Amino acid sequence: MRKITIAIDGYSSTGKSTIAKQLAKALGYIYVDTGAMYRAVTLFAMRSEFIGTESSNIEALVKLLPKINLKFVYNETVGFAEMYLNNENVEKEIRTLEVSRNVSQIATIEEVRYKLVEMQKKMGQEKGIVMDGRDIGTVVFPEAELKLFMTASAEKRATRRYKELLDKGDDVTFEEVLKNVEQRDYIDSHREFSPLKLADDAIEFDNSDMGLEEQFERILGYAQRVINKL
Ligand code: C5P
Repeated sequence: MRKITIAIDGYSSTGKSTIAKQLAKALGYIYVDTGAMYRAVTLFAMRSEFIGTESSNIEALVKLLPKINLKFVYNETVGFAEMYLNNENVEKEIRTLEVSRNVSQIATIEEVRYKLVEMQKKMGQEKGIVMDGRDIGTVVFPEAELKLFMTASAEKRATRRYKELLDKGDDVTFEEVLKNVEQRDYIDSHREFSPLKLADDAIEFDNSDMGLEEQFERILGYAQRVINKL
C-alpha cells in the first residue's frame, strides 16, 4: 500500500503529539515531534548561557550550530523515540517550563530553523511519516497529502499542560502555564521566518470539547480516505 505524509500543525498544547502518535501507531508510520528538536537546541543554548535576544547570544549559538548533534532513539518501553542532544538523552529536561519559556525565541532564529527543517525533510523522504510542529504543512512538507491544523481555547490547553507538569512533579501555577501558552502562540504566529499559520489546504480541527477517542476516530478516517484514493 502506498504511504502518505501527514503534517500536523497548530497552537501549543493542542494535543498534536497525542494524535500524531496514535496515527503513526495505527498506520505503521514513523512519528517525528519537531518541537523536541527546537527544545533540544534551546536546552543547549540555556546550558551555554546564550539565552536572550541580544545579537551576541544569537551569533554565539549560530556559530555552534554545527556542533549540535540531534537524534531520535526509539525506546521500546515508552513506545516512542526520545530526543538525544550530543548523545545524551534529554527527553525529560526539554519538557520543563523553563525550556518552554525560552524555546519560542530560539525558534525565531533563521539559521536554527534552516538546520532543523533540512533534517526534517530528510526524515520524510520515504513518506509514511506523521510529523507535528508549527510549519510542517507550510514549509517542511508543503506537498503533504494530509494536513491538520489543531486548535483549542487557551484555557483548555493550559489546563491540559498544567496537569501534565503537575503529574511530573513540577512546581508550577496554572497562571504561569497559561501565560506561557499565550506567549508562545503569539511569538510563533508573529515571527518573521515560517510563522505558525493555517495552510490553504489544511483541515482546521478544534478539539476544545472533544474526547481523545472521538478525535482519533475522526482523524484516522480522514487519513484512510486519503490513502484509499491513492
Ligand atoms: O511542539 P512544542 O510545543 O514542543 O514546540 C515547542 C516550541 O518549538 C514551539 O512553541 C515553537 O516555538 C517551536 N517550534 C517551531 N516549529 C516547529 C516545532 C516547534 O517553531 N516545527
